[in-house]
Amino acid sequence: MNTLHIDMDTFFVSVERLLDPSLNNRPVIVGGSPLERGVVAGCSREARRYGVHSAMPLRRAYQLCPRAVFLYPKFVHYAEYSERVAEIIVDSTPVAEKASIDEFYADVTGCERPYGNLFEWAKKLKRTITGETHLPLSFGLASNKFVSKVATGVAKTRGDICVPAGGERRFLAPLPVGMMPGVGRVLEPELLAMGIHLIGDIARLSPRIFVHMYGKSGQVLYEHACGIDRSPVVPYRKRKSVGAEHTFHEDTLDIPCMLSTLQCLAMRVGRELRERRFLTNTITLKLRYADFVTQTLTQRCNYTNHDMNIYALAEKLFRRLWTRRVRVRLLGISTTNFLDDLSQLPLFATREEKDARLYAAIDSIRRRFGNDAIAFAAVCERHRSRAA
Ligand SMILES: [Mg+2]
Repeated sequence: MNTLHIDMDTFFVSVERLLDPSLNNRPVIVGGSPLERGVVAGCSREARRYGVHSAMPLRRAYQLCPRAVFLYPKFVHYAEYSERVAEIIVDSTPVAEKASIDEFYADVTGCERPYGNLFEWAKKLKRTITGETHLPLSFGLASNKFVSKVATGVAKTRGDICVPAGGERRFLAPLPVGMMPGVGRVLEPELLAMGIHLIGDIARLSPRIFVHMYGKSGQVLYEHACGIDRSPVVPYRKRKSVGAEHTFHEDTLDIPCMLSTLQCLAMRVGRELRERRFLTNTITLKLRYADFVTQTLTQRCNYTNHDMNIYALAEKLFRRLWTRRVRVRLLGISTTNFLDDLSQLPLFATREEKDARLYAAIDSIRRRFGNDAIAFAAVCERHRSRAA
């Protein structure tokens, strides 16, 4: 098995610098204003030199590096660039996985024949990605996912790396345990306290020690330290659409009834988009008349996953689409053209945070008490008048 791991270098900052080249060579911190609570989502190398790192409170980052440029994250731009990189990798490899916004795996097992030397091929892929997106990246090539990811971490300072099959343990042994993915701020000090400083120190001990201490994840820790990882590259399949439809019990001409149905559909679609962490910019309204003639109308909008925005556009489309004075049998809303919604990551404190928190609260109420627990005022009005 051969695995390529790709990680974009200081991804958010790199995108910000494409949007505004005056940020080049300056310490840049993405996350928000230092006057607000919230944490560093990404920072440039210049800022790292001052001790700033991801997930650090913005106020602390400001103390360390007051002359840094502090920026609010531009989620949609990051997601768009991430998608462009993903597309290139998916198109260039047999099996590709998008592990996060700026991190990708590709399984290139058995590709020596079509690709030639895999390391040379990976360098060419890197040139293609930077050529098309102007974003810097690092990569590691190894026999499995774990080793390739560690290799990329090393590549950040030493240049791109290929770990030869059979050389995994030797490659890992001299590296500090903190470089192992999965060894976080809790585990690292514990290992250091035990005198385990290097990955090789773990591999030299008996796996039973780690199983005793950490159970199943101790076994995984030990195997990783030995360069063993059997987890597969999970193919990246993008969902194409999210939608909802409603067929009326009786075909209807009742406009308030149809509008309140659209509101319910918008709420269902919005909730599913948020659960999948998608933003959409394309909304389609579907209308089926009593005589089964079906029409659709599609319109673009700004990226959103908020019920209100989806409903507002759906209503507009409905008023344009319903032209025949014929009863309506079915209404549907569907959305396509997705981007990852990064604003839901707990990492970000932003101006949109209030909205995001509102919808998170709405969704959790609906999960506990059902979809009808919270609705637009008009929908409630409608139900009340029906009940009366
Ligand atoms: Mg990165």
